[in-house]
Amino acid sequence: MSDSSGTILVHMVHFPVLTLGPGRRVGVWLRGCSIHCEGCISEELWSFDPAFARGVDDVACEVRGFFGGDVPPAGVTVSGGEPFDQWEATRALLERFASFGIRDVLVYTGYDISAPEGRREEIAPLAAAVVDSPFKLGEDTEAVWKGSENQTLSVFRPEFKDMYGEWARSAKGALQVAVLGNRVVSIGIPRQSDAGAIMALAEMNAAR
Ligand code: SF4
Repeated sequence: MSDSSGTILVHMVHFPVLTLGPGRRVGVWLRGCSIHCEGCISEELWSFDPAFARGVDDVACEVRGFFGGDVPPAGVTVSGGEPFDQWEATRALLERFASFGIRDVLVYTGYDISAPEGRREEIAPLAAAVVDSPFKLGEDTEAVWKGSENQTLSVFRPEFKDMYGEWARSAKGALQVAVLGNRVVSIGIPRQSDAGAIMALAEMNAAR
């Protein structure tokens, strides 16, 4: 069991997220990524900025709060940034979700979890599903759940296999647009041919 009294770099928490996993979900975007895929649309999340440090328990409790609402989330999606670049903190967060009884947790990572040094064995007990491997510019895909064809989806919890299977068969649809304070953000994974418009939106936000 990890120490949930530690800190974790979190860019934002948002509900509802409609485009990163099955159903209406809580999205947790972690901060910091050392992989630096060419063509990444989340470059603003690459820096490990200590100003984004929050208590693991604080973040977990914020997420749990959404499950007490009138329309509870289907699950939680943890994205980035790169969750495995702050693995101990990510593990503590996932363990906290499990302690709350939140079982449908989808994790996005740019690392190959099945590589010899991958964390497949460590993440499998803590997540319902994982989308892994780096984004590859030039390998576009129609699949709703990934940004490039090389990426793979692993579903670890048998009770979610049908649900994730159905979601994985759906084609890319519209991106979600959300207003967060004075910022407009797009949520979801665009076709590579649409990524330029997403980057322009990000730059517009950065200029504000
Ligand atoms: S792993 Fe994800 S956040 Fe990191 S550079 Fe690649 S696409 Fe961007």
